[in-house]
Formats: sequence, C-alpha cells, structure tokens
Amino acid sequence: MAASRDFDVVIVGAGAAGIAACRHLAAAKLRVVVLEARDRIGGRAWTVPTAIGKPIDLGCEWLHSADINPWSEIAVTLGFSLDKMPPDWTSRIAIHHGEDANNDWQRAREEFEEAYECAAQLPYDQPASALLPPGGRWNKLFDAISTWANGAELDCVSVKDRQNYDNTSINWRCYDGYGALMNAYAAGLPIERETVVRAIDHSDRRIRISTNRGDLTAAAVIVTISTSLIAEDSIRFIPPLPQVREAAHGLPCGVANKCFLALDGANPPETYRHLIGRTDRTETGNYQIRPHGWPVISCYFGGQLSLQLEKDGPEAMAAFGIDELAGIYGNEIRARLRLIASSAWGIDPFARGSYSCALPGHADDRAILARPIDDRLFFAGEACSRDQFGTAHAAFTTAVSAAERIIRILVPAS
Ligand SMILES: Cc1cc2nc3c(=O)[nH]c(=O)nc-3n(C[C@H](O)[C@H](O)[C@H](O)COP(=O)(O)OP(=O)(O)OC[C@H]3O[C@@H](n4cnc5c(N)ncnc54)[C@H](O)[C@@H]3O)c2cc1C
Repeated sequence: MAASRDFDVVIVGAGAAGIAACRHLAAAKLRVVVLEARDRIGGRAWTVPTAIGKPIDLGCEWLHSADINPWSEIAVTLGFSLDKMPPDWTSRIAIHHGEDANNDWQRAREEFEEAYECAAQLPYDQPASALLPPGGRWNKLFDAISTWANGAELDCVSVKDRQNYDNTSINWRCYDGYGALMNAYAAGLPIERETVVRAIDHSDRRIRISTNRGDLTAAAVIVTISTSLIAEDSIRFIPPLPQVREAAHGLPCGVANKCFLALDGANPPETYRHLIGRTDRTETGNYQIRPHGWPVISCYFGGQLSLQLEKDGPEAMAAFGIDELAGIYGNEIRARLRLIASSAWGIDPFARGSYSCALPGHADDRAILARPIDDRLFFAGEACSRDQFGTAHAAFTTAVSAAERIIRILVPAS
C-alpha cells in the first residue's frame, strides 16, 4: 500500500474560506494542501463568461460591508476595479406603486424592525414570521425579501439569528466578478482539484483524511464544506461528531438562484435599477436592470420558488423571470430577452444550497460549529460566523481565525 502523504494542515474545500486559510498557513511556512471536490475553485463564488462578453457571478456578487470587508483590500491589491454604486434595494416600492405606497412600506418596515428588536430581547427564540402584523399589506413582500436574503421563507428564520447579523450597509462589486477575485487570490496555492474527501479519522495522533485519490495525514484539518453537506454526512467523521452534525442541522442552507437574461434594445433605459416581480406574493423574483450598465437583467429567486425553478430547469427559470418582467414592462420586452446563464445551487452536490440560515431556536448553533475540536479539527466557512453569516467575507474571517489558531499551536514562537 502506498504511504499516505503527510502535511501540517489539510483544508477541505477551496471556496472563500479554504483559499483564505491556505494563504495564511502557507505564509506561515506550514506544509498545507487544499482538497477540492470540484474541477474549479471558488465554491459558492463562481464567475462565468457570457455571450454578451461580460463576466457574471452565479454565486456571491456583492462585497457586503465593503468598507470593512477583507476582500475589498485584496481587490485593490490585485488590481480589480470596484463598482461602488450603492444598490437601490430600499427605494423600489415608489417605482412600483408611487410615493404614498412607498411611505406606507417604509413605515411597515420600521415597525417590522422594531418588532425584531423587541423579540430578540426575549428569553426564547421564534420564527420571524411570528412578527408579521396580522393581515399586513406588505406581508408577502417581507416573505419574498426573506427568500432572497436568507434563501428561506420567514417561518424558517430564527429571529435571534437575524438580529445577530451586522453590516455597515456599504455594498460594492467587482466588475470582473467576486469569483474571479477569489481565483486571483488563490493563484499559486497548493490546491488539488477533483479530490473528494470521504472520511476524516481523528481517532489517532495524526488525522487521516480519505479521498477518492488516496489518503493523507495531517496534524490539523480545517473543514469548510457547507452545513447542508455536514448535515447529510457527506464526510464521515471517525469517531462521529454528533454535536457538529446537530449544529449543521440547525443551520441548513437556504436556496437562492440567479438567472441572467441578455437584453436587446434601448428599453428599459435605466441602469442599476432593482425591481420586484410582484409585491403581493412570496413567489416572486428580484430583478437587477442593467447591472454595471451592461445589457443584461439579473433575476434572483429564493426559497421554495427557487427550489422548484431549479428542478424545472434553466428555461423554466428564465420563463418565470420573463413573465414577471413582461408584467412590469409589457409583453414587448419578451422577444428581447435571452437566457445566457443560470444557477442551481440546491441540487449542486458540493453545495446543496446557497447560504446558511438558522432555524428558529438555533442561532447558537453557529458558535457550536465554530468550536475547535481538540484544537486540531476546525470548521470554518460562512455558517461559522455569528454576525456576518451567509457571506464571502464571513467565510474569509472564520477561516483566518482558524488558521491563526493553528499557527499559534504548530509554529514555535521565534
Ligand atoms: C446565489 C448566491 C448569491 C450569493 N450572494 C452573495 C453576495 O452577494 N455576497 C456575499 O458575500 N455572499 C453571497 N453569497 C454567499 C457566498 O457565496 C458564500 O457565503 C461563500 O462563498 C461561502 O464560502 P465557503 O468557503 O464558506 O463555502 P463554499 O464556497 O461552499 O466552499 C466549500 C468548498 O468545499 C468543496 N467541497 C464540498 N464537499 C467537498 C468534499 N467532500 N471534498 C472536498 N471538497 C468539498 C466545495 O466544492 C466548495 O468549493 C451568495 C451565494 C449564492 C449561492
């Protein structure tokens, strides 16, 4: 039997977390390798070229909290141009329904925020749907927004977790794509693709990692796969880690998907505009008209609708978006829209969803997941962050803190 290769640290997954951890560990001169199941790196960050000659992000796109987001500095260092145009997420109701309706919506939003703040102080957690005003005019819209933000309807969202989330409300984008930025940051790192980790045996002094390409051993391991994959035992831990598995069950990945439509012609002329398909139902899309000024409409679907659309296939997803856009702009737009790219993160075998969402009663599971095991087996990634979860910068920061801990343990103080 061939001897297994030995490392100081093995990292499972080359998404935002795996790349960030590897960069830090390699800089500390540790013998490190990243094992990535796919034939590409980036994970849920995935920039693809399109027929309109522009790259688009099928996964993460916005550098949220951009003024404190480590990826912003990396972008500048690597020469990536940032689009700092602020999104118009909060001002769209006026376009759909006029100023009076917008005022009513803003008032309802403030009341909903207050309800969250009060509920978060209570000793018990509850689903965010419990805070909706009975019969409220905008309840379906609140639910639709939750499907985009959390990948899940409000009845699956923990109030306490939602209140823990923090951001600076500064949102930027990379013209070349968030996924492309991560690929550039990963250049030169020891990443082995098409290497599927199947088991991690931590019963011995050195941890044994079994893959489709043979075994490796390491002093420490960082696992960055999504919570849905942990929950479905896609990697077998020996001995098992029931507390980690339970935490992952409490933090399932919600589903959000994108579909990009090339737009021919000059109408609609607006750029950077965000619109909502319908404000009176949960099953509706969020539409970006001409992001970066490009001739494209980006459709965003979340929750149950998104799951159904990805099962039905890219053409069905596009057809749903085109129907809603025709409802806004008239039937004339139909012939000028053409599907150029779409995602299916829910059925993706190496993601099984888009971003983690704590079920009611499970906000504290993030801390459980982030807790090191024997100071040598670490979990990192977006779901491990208490207050930035669901984002690429949370993946970065949780991974860097695991890497720093490992460096303190493995690298003797000079
Ligand atoms: C549609 C969509 C829109 C989003 N929008 C934004 C946004 O605008 N801004 C933002 O900040 N975030 C956004 N996100 C979330 C963001 O993409 C994620 O939070 C982040 O990329 C997660 O990084 P990660 O390293 O934690 O996990 P991942 O990117 O999932 O990395 C884990 C890696 O592990 C690999 N893997 C899985 N199983 C195995 C195995 N058995 N063996 C080896 N490798 C394995 C996977 O292939 C993957 O590469 C979005 C996500 C989606 C899907």
